[in-house]
Amino acid sequence: MVPPIDATAASAATTIAPARTVRDVSSRQPARWQNARVIDIIEETPDAVTLRLRLVDSADFLPGQYYNVRLTVAGRTGPIQRAYSVASSPVPETSTIDIGVREVPGGLISPQLVRGLSVGDQIQVRGPVGRFTWTMEDGGPVLLVGAGSGVVPLMSMVRYAVAADLDIPMRLVCSSSSFDSAFYHRDLANLAEQHSWLEVVHTLTRDSSDVRAAHHRRIDHRMIVEAVAGQLPRRAYICGPPAMVEDVQGWLGELGVDPHWVRIEKYD
Ligand SMILES: Cc1cc2nc3c(=O)[nH]c(=O)nc-3n(C[C@H](O)[C@H](O)[C@H](O)COP(=O)(O)OP(=O)(O)OC[C@H]3O[C@@H](n4cnc5c(N)ncnc54)[C@H](O)[C@@H]3O)c2cc1C
Repeated sequence: MVPPIDATAASAATTIAPARTVRDVSSRQPARWQNARVIDIIEETPDAVTLRLRLVDSADFLPGQYYNVRLTVAGRTGPIQRAYSVASSPVPETSTIDIGVREVPGGLISPQLVRGLSVGDQIQVRGPVGRFTWTMEDGGPVLLVGAGSGVVPLMSMVRYAVAADLDIPMRLVCSSSSFDSAFYHRDLANLAEQHSWLEVVHTLTRDSSDVRAAHHRRIDHRMIVEAVAGQLPRRAYICGPPAMVEDVQGWLGELGVDPHWVRIEKYD
């Protein structure tokens, strides 16, 4: 296992790709299934990994998009597919992508991805897909709200902003059951220390004592009021369980954030 990508090092070596628009990327032909080789497996939490995949046909993607992954499952006819968001930045290059996967107990695909793969294995992927995207052209201030594995596509946005050397205010609210189960909390702490435009706020739903978190409850109305205080976002991205996504979307509308610029991704 190797440590997660050092986004700061990536930033230093980066040649910024021309900004791509959603229309540029989404107007491409639908992608085909392709083999991707697992070139690294990074343990993020006790039940979640980053799978670093090398693609044969690399494709431009936008921060926030996802790939479909398909696997054969014993006892099932035909492969089963699931969506997994890209956690890495499309800058400086897209031939290698990181996907973040949390094991859902009893699930058909996620346990195989988290515990059943080794470096060198190949899996089939198709993508990139999705309109839950943010690039420098969209501007900010940006509010990112994620719960559980919903932080994965938001991490791609943060890493892209670092790699592209942007200076757009970004506030990320992450909800996890505990710090141990919080995706990317070490990377995020390092990035927030290095970049004054990034603020990370953690809330823990099942640990009432960890002082590293600002809050110890589920994301609620009061938390969102505080998250927009002093900096009404012009762009907001919410990702995670459908109920949380819908609640936060409604509260942001009430607080005056333009509904057109409140983008959502529900992990059903
Ligand atoms: C756009 C999008 C992006 C996503 N990105 C990510 C990501 O970045 N990271 C991530 O971890 N996840 C992500 N997800 C969720 C992911 O796609 C899967 O839904 C998740 O990994 C669970 O898949 P699974 O096959 O393991 O579980 P499933 O087989 O779908 O099972 C889910 C649950 O249902 C239960 N279940 C299944 N069948 C039955 C049954 N017959 N009766 C009762 N219970 C049953 C299982 O026990 C399990 O608890 C994303 C989803 C979407 C839509």
